[in-house]
Amino acid sequence: MKTPATLITLLTTVLFLCAALPSFAAATLRSGSQPVDLPLKGRTIMIDPGHGGVDPGTSNQGFLEKDITLSIALKLKVDLERLGAKVIMTRDRDATVSLDERVDMTNALKPDIFVSVHVNASSDHGVAGVETYFFTPQSRPLASALFHALVSGLQCRARWIAYNNLHVIDHTRIPASLAEVGFLSNARERKLLVSDSYQQRIADALSRGIVDYFARPGGSPSGH
Ligand SMILES: [Zn+2]
Repeated sequence: MKTPATLITLLTTVLFLCAALPSFAAATLRSGSQPVDLPLKGRTIMIDPGHGGVDPGTSNQGFLEKDITLSIALKLKVDLERLGAKVIMTRDRDATVSLDERVDMTNALKPDIFVSVHVNASSDHGVAGVETYFFTPQSRPLASALFHALVSGLQCRARWIAYNNLHVIDHTRIPASLAEVGFLSNARERKLLVSDSYQQRIADALSRGIVDYFARPGGSPSGH
């Protein structure tokens, strides 16, 4: 049994810790007046949730690609803003936006990078995993960073990083990549893709890939 003196010491310690913790937490978040640990501060990122409105994208068992891509993209936006980025979205609701409009918006607003989020489908229901695409040589490091972050973050099958003249990454003038984050046609992956927790894991992996892209050796400070 503890003596009253020990109890008083314990209580004092607990009270001290309770009083000290908030200021300790504040001190780790701020260095002087500058918030620290914001690796995407000063970056502008365009997120493009695939499809939308009259274009549902691929579908399976009532699940629509356009809904999944929007949900992932909105989570990604929150992640990126927490890391200090300014985020622009080609759509933030279920709206019809043409591919040309997405490209025009990107070229007019000149973000540092463009990331398009899609969900895949195959007639072979055994096919699963992630793919990322690039078109211009300057976009390859972005496609590579997203790919590796998705594979390690999701522990899923690594399919490929590939060159492809998809419209949104073909006509954008900044580093641009399109990520196919999983197959709606695969039963196991479909169950994951429609869940809120897995969509968050996808968003977290994409944001990690974006941080890695800007931090890569040889990456210029401005991102261009
Ligand atoms: Zn798609």
